[in-house]
Amino acid sequence: MTITEHDPVSTPVGEVAGIVAGARAAVAMGRTRPMAWRVATLRRLRELVVRHESVILDALAADLGKARLEAFTTEVGFCLNEIDLALDHVESWAKPERVATPLTLQPGSSHVVREPLGLVCVIAPWNYPFQLLLAPVIAAVSAGNGVVAKPSELAPATAAAVAALLADLDDPAVVTVLGGVSETTELLAQPFDHLFYTGNGRVARVVMRAAAEHLTPVTLELGGKSPAIVSRHAKLEVTARRIAFGKFTNAGQTCVAPDYVLVERPVHNELVRLLGVAVQEMYGDDPRRSPDYGRIVSPHHVVRLSKMLDDGGLVAFGGIVDAEARYVAPTVLTGVSLDSAAMAEEIFDSIDEAVAIVGRGDKPLALYVFSEHDDEVDRVIGGTTSGGVTVNGTLFHVANPNLPFGGVGPSGTGAYHGRYGFETFSHRRAVYARGTRLDPSLLYPPFTAAKEKLVRRGFSLPDPRQLPSRLLARWRARRA
Ligand code: NAD
Repeated sequence: MTITEHDPVSTPVGEVAGIVAGARAAVAMGRTRPMAWRVATLRRLRELVVRHESVILDALAADLGKARLEAFTTEVGFCLNEIDLALDHVESWAKPERVATPLTLQPGSSHVVREPLGLVCVIAPWNYPFQLLLAPVIAAVSAGNGVVAKPSELAPATAAAVAALLADLDDPAVVTVLGGVSETTELLAQPFDHLFYTGNGRVARVVMRAAAEHLTPVTLELGGKSPAIVSRHAKLEVTARRIAFGKFTNAGQTCVAPDYVLVERPVHNELVRLLGVAVQEMYGDDPRRSPDYGRIVSPHHVVRLSKMLDDGGLVAFGGIVDAEARYVAPTVLTGVSLDSAAMAEEIFDSIDEAVAIVGRGDKPLALYVFSEHDDEVDRVIGGTTSGGVTVNGTLFHVANPNLPFGGVGPSGTGAYHGRYGFETFSHRRAVYARGTRLDPSLLYPPFTAAKEKLVRRGFSLPDPRQLPSRLLARWRARRA
């Protein structure tokens, strides 16, 4: 297959087991473990992404109407950054980490060795169909694993482009399965050493049940309702711009988009007005004609969204739907009840009330807080939990590859990006080694009173290399 063919053909269900077995055989032969393979594969991936960038951007435009710059920053450029970071650091990430060894285990040395898990499966959704497939693949390869990648069938052009790109790697240990529910179901019946799923909570339960059959560890990158809390001490103009940016990027189809705004009563009307101004500045008077505003992935999802619009709240602006064009205008609803499906905007009267409202829902994937007062920001962060937080902004914490990206509880299990991705796809193996020249018999029977005395003393003594810092800490404590 060449990368120019957008061929959304599914993998025949009967071939899935054979594809997985082939990749497993390549991994079993030790192909993916050497650092040389990881570096060469990452370099080759980089080359292919750069070479086929415009095909990928075209595919993203076909599936989601993504503007080229947005598609570059959030999908292609994002993955290139992940590859570059891995290429710069993978050797140091993979170095055995020496740790202290207590006196009772001396003479000896202890190391944590990061080793590949084996063959992993990456299942991606449709909203960032390139990035959410490739970034975990990059992490898995950097950790020395083989990968079976499963793109979303709901973004068929991108699925075909990314499958062709991975096929161009021409590596038996990195393969793709294409298709929908039946192909994924067959895929999940196969044994893997790790399952990495991004998508919704309903399918995540299917994935977890399948994983339980083989006792396979999972990473689940899920969604949920992410709040933006706006205090009356926020700088409203920039707040409105940053909320509009986070919400209307990819036409609102972003897992970390602010789903609802909790706004302190005195600034409610002004914030709503400024959100309208921000949308007008970004997408003009008629966002349908803006080349920078995306489209909803499928007519089915347009229907779902328009039901939400009918369901509650006053349309402050937007509200226009064109199912045929897969268009839903940037919309702000006001006066929405917390239990409605849209749950777009709600007023609060104190920071504590905002914290309590967030606490009543599921733990969100992201939380945004806007305030110029640090104590308010601290109270929000200290009183809530979420996968990640951006203060005075939206989405940005996800773009920093030095931060872990993942949810908590119903918004997800595990994390990745940068080093965290490498860790997710690595087994931390404990290695303790001792020489044979000395063989103190302290721990061996027969147990004598003298041995007991020594062992009891030994247990409270640290590794000799920790002694200076222990003594320093004791001396500091005495002086304090
Ligand atoms: P989707 O419908 O594309 O499904 C994701 C994957 O699951 C696809 O590959 C699909 O083939 C497979 N699948 C669907 N039904 C299945 C079944 N019954 N059995 C086995 N496999 C099945 O995508 P989606 O779930 O609609 O994606 C949107 C969701 O993803 C949103 O809830 C969003 O919040 C979440 N999301 C999370 C993140 C994150 O990083 N945490 C990122 C993006 C999206």
